[in-house]
Amino acid sequence: QNVTQPVVRHPRWVRVNTLKSTLNEQLSTTFAGYEKSEELSPVLTAPGSSKLYFVDPNIPNLLALPSKIDLTKSAAYTSGKIIFQDKASCFPAYLLDMTAEDGDVIDGCAAPGNKTTHLAAIISERSTDEGCGQKVLAFERDKIRTTTLEKMVKLASADTLVSIKGGQDFLAAQPQSDTYRSVGAILLDPSCSGSGIVGRDDTIRMHLPDPQAGEKLNTGRGKKRKRDQKTASVPKPSATLSLELDDSVPEETVGDDKVSERLAALSAFQLRILVHAMRFSKACKITYSTCSIHFEENEGVVFRALASSVAKKRGWRILKQEHQVEGLKAWTNRGVWEDNILGEEIEVNDAQKKDVLAACIRCNKGTEDGTMGFFVAAFIRDEYMVKETL
Ligand code: SAM
Repeated sequence: QNVTQPVVRHPRWVRVNTLKSTLNEQLSTTFAGYEKSEELSPVLTAPGSSKLYFVDPNIPNLLALPSKIDLTKSAAYTSGKIIFQDKASCFPAYLLDMTAEDGDVIDGCAAPGNKTTHLAAIISERSTDEGCGQKVLAFERDKIRTTTLEKMVKLASADTLVSIKGGQDFLAAQPQSDTYRSVGAILLDPSCSGSGIVGRDDTIRMHLPDPQAGEKLNTGRGKKRKRDQKTASVPKPSATLSLELDDSVPEETVGDDKVSERLAALSAFQLRILVHAMRFSKACKITYSTCSIHFEENEGVVFRALASSVAKKRGWRILKQEHQVEGLKAWTNRGVWEDNILGEEIEVNDAQKKDVLAACIRCNKGTEDGTMGFFVAAFIRDEYMVKETL
């Protein structure tokens, strides 16, 4: 007997920009007439553009809608009250868990600005009173991408909270300089292979696995990688300010034969930028993220950074799962290990491996979570733990 599996589509994730609106306001205006779903799966399998929404349980102010819902012409979207941002891409700013005591925050790799504006919204929500004065210092090396960042920050009404360091290389910022003495936290979302990005075509090729038949989930590995990279590198039309492609755009696309060379180069850059962040004199919290599925760019960079002399000297450690912000503590998809990738100079005993992998957060594309492929880990310094327990 032929049982047709429902087609599962990547949802349209919508973050309500709390600098301009509230979840309740959006539910009673933009989404008035939509039906609330208590589960995500009906949204993933909803035919066409069914008016259905799901309130995400992990990230505050985040909604999932069926993929075909077109909100690009809605007043909420064009006025910056809602932002299209994949659920996974909301993890880093939320995991950083900024408080009013944390001072300023650097976004080291900011454009197009999804995480910058998310950070600004969180800071604003959590500021104790008017004039708390916390800022997001948003570095973006690329001048063209800086223009997009500027537009997004303005549209989101985050311009009073964000200081854009356009055309500036975060690696050139002097970590011990007085300029950055107010910086208590750093979000790092550097360029990566983009192998976790969901290509437009992926959305209609994913099927719910049939656990009884032992069918495996489509993780998107393999053949689709090349196409994903192509999709991701399509330039965005600046005039219409597309906020849709919310994560990494690989700096170049590569053929499969060059992948390992490219991964080695990317992970060397990612490690360098993460260790650089660890040098900032007052920084006590860092999140490191990629939209890559590769161990080399993810857990590999985390283990190497923790083994660096800078991390050891300055007391950086991984933020363990049990200390993570409420909505992510319960996230079960955690770090993975791959043999024979870290060189012998990195010594990791079994207990460290277990702790660190449990602290790393992964999202797999093509699963019932409805996210893109993503990775994030947070680091803290002893000083931060002390501050927390006082
Ligand atoms: N965080 C962004 C978001 O959520 O919208 C996406 C960031 S994208 C993955 C990486 C960005 O970092 C690119 O725009 C790239 O130009 C920028 N970048 C790469 N290296 C940099 C550096 N050394 N300093 C500043 N920006 C850098």
